Amino acid sequence: MTAKILNGKPIADAIKSEISAEVARLREIHGFAPCLAVVRVGDDPASAVYVGNKLKTTEELGLTSIHHHLPAETKNEELLALIRTLNENDDVDGILVQLPLPTQIDESAILELIDPKKDVDGFHPINVGRLSQGRESLVPCTPAGVIEILKRSDIEIAGSNAVIVGRSNIVGKPLAVLLLQENATVTACHSRTRELPAITSQADILIAAIGRPGYIRAEHIKEGAAVIDVGINKVSDPSQIAEFYDGDEVEKRVAAIESRGFTLVGDVNKLDAIAKAGAYTPVPGGVGLLTIAMLMRNTIDAAKRRRGIG
Ligand code: NAP
Repeated sequence: MTAKILNGKPIADAIKSEISAEVARLREIHGFAPCLAVVRVGDDPASAVYVGNKLKTTEELGLTSIHHHLPAETKNEELLALIRTLNENDDVDGILVQLPLPTQIDESAILELIDPKKDVDGFHPINVGRLSQGRESLVPCTPAGVIEILKRSDIEIAGSNAVIVGRSNIVGKPLAVLLLQENATVTACHSRTRELPAITSQADILIAAIGRPGYIRAEHIKEGAAVIDVGINKVSDPSQIAEFYDGDEVEKRVAAIESRGFTLVGDVNKLDAIAKAGAYTPVPGGVGLLTIAMLMRNTIDAAKRRRGIG
């Protein structure tokens, strides 16, 4: 079997064009565009890229944005004060604090101070609780993106046997709740799971959110399964590349390591997934592309709910 590649780009593009039409409608009928406030603390280069991409996407889709870039030595109280100001600013619909935060900052206190109605990352305990009860909430972006990929690729979730490897608060746990709401039979695996391949190889839908390059191999995959690879891992040792890729891709990946020091590899061994799965999301180019689109969707939902617009 050769797995069908589920590319994230056309799906992300379709969602973005729906969002941009919705923003145009909000501007025309209600006279406003949803506003996302993004807060970055310190100079982590990866965070700078992520924030840059988020701001660029707001602009592309017609939303407005506010960017606060604070120095690395910012005190906890200063960041709390900024969050309070953004909570009170009626023009701000969504607040996103880019993680990780410097060590002097109490991350939980910051995330819990964000107004749950503006919590576009969906990390606030109120949103987590509402999600688990099946009530209206803001849903974490990466899990929401996985559901979009499955639905828009016509992969049947209801009644399927879905196995997630990983139980983090940002990916594994919310994804388990979402899949359950879509009527899958859900199993959540983690580092203490015994006989992992025996469980994952029963999955119609297998989702890997582990943080280990190429960890999911043929023995973990049921013939014909839909394999969704959430993992994004930096691999910088060229000798590892032949384990994950073949043909031209080996050269391309080694060249990437030589030029920028790393290449991005998922949690699933691509060669094994292609040979055994029915469908497979590549890394890069799969789930990762949906995350920002879902952030924009959350900002619009937050804006409409807060302003009582249908
Ligand atoms: P995390 O917080 O480090 O959680 C990893 C999970 O994997 C944990 O639940 C851990 O189990 C489990 N795990 C680790 N080793 C395992 C093993 N050998 N067998 C079974 N389970 C194992 O990671 P995360 O934040 O969820 O991220 C997971 C991956 O997704 C990373 O590669 C990350 O970069 C990527 N990611 C991608 C996006 C995107 O936009 N595509 C967004 C977020 C994250 P325990 O709980 O027992 O420790």
